[in-house]
Amino acid sequence: MNRLAVIGQPIAHSRSPAMHTVAFEALGIVDEWSYEAIEVAPEAFVERTEALADAGYVGANVTVPHKQAALELAARASETAREIGAANTLSFAGEISADNTDAAGLLGALPSPPRGMRALVLGAGGAARAAVWALVREGATVEIWNRTTSKARELAAELGGTAADAVATPDYDLIVNATSVGMDPAAAPSGGGDLKTLPLDADGLHDRQVVVDLVYGSSETQLAHAARTRGAVVVDGLEVLVHQGAESFRIWTGLAPPVEAMRRAVRDS
Ligand code: NAP
Repeated sequence: MNRLAVIGQPIAHSRSPAMHTVAFEALGIVDEWSYEAIEVAPEAFVERTEALADAGYVGANVTVPHKQAALELAARASETAREIGAANTLSFAGEISADNTDAAGLLGALPSPPRGMRALVLGAGGAARAAVWALVREGATVEIWNRTTSKARELAAELGGTAADAVATPDYDLIVNATSVGMDPAAAPSGGGDLKTLPLDADGLHDRQVVVDLVYGSSETQLAHAARTRGAVVVDGLEVLVHQGAESFRIWTGLAPPVEAMRRAVRDS
């Protein structure tokens, strides 16, 4: 059996096990591949992950709060993971190697390439780093707003874009929420919060914009709802999850991921 897992804390809300299991079923390899969720506290991350590698696991997805530790743990890392400074995909064949598929996941979920777009990224944590890296690299003009302003400045200095103190909602072609605002309280013990804690003017959202909310939960987020009802193209966190998962699937199995089956799985679970 080729065993995979997603490692995080909390992890009960993760839809990755359902998504990858359906992918194995769709390709007729469910008897050879498995994917489970493993809750691991930060202080146990290195030991538990090395134990999985020693036990013969093929690899793992890594999520909050371990993505930086995952990069540090790995003996080798892709250029993408190194530049973003975080890894969400580990492979255990031989040495532990790290990759980051959050950036490709965002780009894959967009309705069109972001080249030339004026983009606003909200947040300066791990998800925002991947978003800024991807959008800058693809030729968008990126502004970064973060609740803690100094972190937005540091991120812009490191990965490109400019830190924004003020936000003019109607002016952006693309808005990406990479904060934890909108998360279900159970999934965000130290984050969450209301749309009002973001600097956006909901009535400034309009039908020539793409709005990506990386957050997903048990129901539509306030931001996704506000954007959808004003005619914007909305890309929700589940769509980005599917695309990042598809890239991880490709890395581990070497097979073309069954994206439509994966999409149905995350939406139904
Ligand atoms: P993180 O590193 O903990 O960063 C959290 C960010 O949210 C920080 O910028 C923080 O600002 C901000 N924040 C938290 N509470 C806030 C509030 N009440 N008001 C304004 N800003 C607030 O988390 P992350 O790993 O980047 O993840 C962020 C979100 O993206 C999570 O919901 C995660 O599940 C989601 N995500 C989704 C996908 C996907 O595939 N759909 C992939 C990756 C992440 P400060 O710096 O001021 O604390």
